[in-house]
Amino acid sequence: MTLALLPFTFQIVLQSIVLWLIALIFGKPAGFREGVALIRWHDWWDYRWPFVTCICFVMGGSDRALQDRSLWFHEVGVHVKQFEDLAVLSDVIAGVVLLYGYLTGHTTWPLALGIWASGGPLWLVPNFLTALRFRKAGKELGWRTWRTMYMMSEHERSAFAQEAQFVRNGGTLHT
Ligand SMILES: [Zn+2]
Repeated sequence: MTLALLPFTFQIVLQSIVLWLIALIFGKPAGFREGVALIRWHDWWDYRWPFVTCICFVMGGSDRALQDRSLWFHEVGVHVKQFEDLAVLSDVIAGVVLLYGYLTGHTTWPLALGIWASGGPLWLVPNFLTALRFRKAGKELGWRTWRTMYMMSEHERSAFAQEAQFVRNGGTLHT
């Protein structure tokens, strides 16, 4: 979480509260780190979903995965920043919609509110669909369609590229 951006990314805080409550079904609270709420998966869930997941400011995983430095960089150093970028973008678009309503006399605030509130990880979802353009590449790697959609989504390609760039430049994956 980037503290300075919080006034512009507050919609992610609201979404995080909902996600945190849902995540408690699959795990238990394991504290906070840099403003990100950690959830330690229950064993039964970790067996079925052995991945680290970070949506909004809520990160869940096994105990070991939550400690992993490169996973932290990937999830928080990259994905959380992407969520924040999209939240700020939603502020701008919602602002334009609101301004349009103000200038023309139309009632646009419900739409503006919806755009603002949805800003964040939700806006990454279309990336899974456009990732289908990499179906051929995915097939070459022996991936199923769902895996190609996940791994070749723009935000995922960006995250892996940022990790590689950071390491190549001598970074230690500390954020
Ligand atoms: Zn990722």
